[in-house]
Amino acid sequence: MNYLLGKTLGDLEQLAAEQGMPAFAAKQMAQWLYQKRVQDIAAMSNLSLKCRQNLADNYAVGLSAPCAVQQSADGTKKYLLEVAGNPLATIETVYIPSNDRATLCVSSQAGCRMGCTFCATARMGFVQHLSATDILNQILSIPESAMLSNLVLMGMGEPLDNLQAVLQSLQIITAEWGMGWSPTRITLSTIGVHSGLVRFLDETGCHLAVSMHSPFDEERRSLMPMQKAYPIAQTLDIIRRYDWTGQRRVSFEYILFAGINDSPKHALAVARLLQGLECRVNLIRFHALPNSPLRGAGTSTIEQFQQHLQRHGVITTVRTSRGEDILAACGMLATKNREQNA
Ligand code: SF4
Repeated sequence: MNYLLGKTLGDLEQLAAEQGMPAFAAKQMAQWLYQKRVQDIAAMSNLSLKCRQNLADNYAVGLSAPCAVQQSADGTKKYLLEVAGNPLATIETVYIPSNDRATLCVSSQAGCRMGCTFCATARMGFVQHLSATDILNQILSIPESAMLSNLVLMGMGEPLDNLQAVLQSLQIITAEWGMGWSPTRITLSTIGVHSGLVRFLDETGCHLAVSMHSPFDEERRSLMPMQKAYPIAQTLDIIRRYDWTGQRRVSFEYILFAGINDSPKHALAVARLLQGLECRVNLIRFHALPNSPLRGAGTSTIEQFQQHLQRHGVITTVRTSRGEDILAACGMLATKNREQNA
């Protein structure tokens, strides 16, 4: 089945021409899809009946409701969704309400091939890239869709490893003809896939979060094998070419593992790496995985690490864990495919 959800205005213009529809129908379709959020082509009432019938012969909207939900004691909800066109593949998306915002943690791939040793998604291996339909469906199909204030591409997968679909989705989310969001309400998190990073920084105005986890090459490589291909020093060289003094922000994610990357020496090296860069470090508590030798640093160690960084002039926050009881917290997302579940 072909889906309309995920198509840009340019795609819809081409589709309108192919279907013999008037050119202005493209904008009308975009409004129905991204602003009025219809579930059915029949509801696109300002398209002629014939146009709607022709369209419905070849396309569906592509919105599909989550197939399961779990709710945490802290109000976080984890939704399970099917991947369009592959009923065997599923993904998770996490809704995180707080006092002043409602954030959705969006997945960009089913599984991941980056192999980070602390991540449940990595253990699934790589299943497939998500299409723009799948990415937008996470945002538009959950019951809280209209309440969302922020998006973070921090769910399953490495967004810059699925660049085309991610950039297309961001275009639709931020375009006036699309969902009309400010890019400053969106943060993309990456380990630093360099070619994708440059295009993301050039082509969007969204915030950037970089997974650092260690300032030292060998150690980072043992936690994140892709350090070999995308060294953090080169990632920082790219980031320093851009202006971070305005509305756009860059932050660095740092999970603290007990006895590995939580010493004052590490804090000093992080501060040196980030010297002169307008940025923030987010310290994250590690959520233990079964059969993993990694352990999370304790609360007092996390606080001391924060103080070390702050003494060296680095703005540092400790990120609150959300949804740990339903395995929805950072690094815990993973699904089985249906065959495995059976
Ligand atoms: S932390 Fe991110 S990039 Fe690394 S394996 Fe997990 S999902 Fe992939």
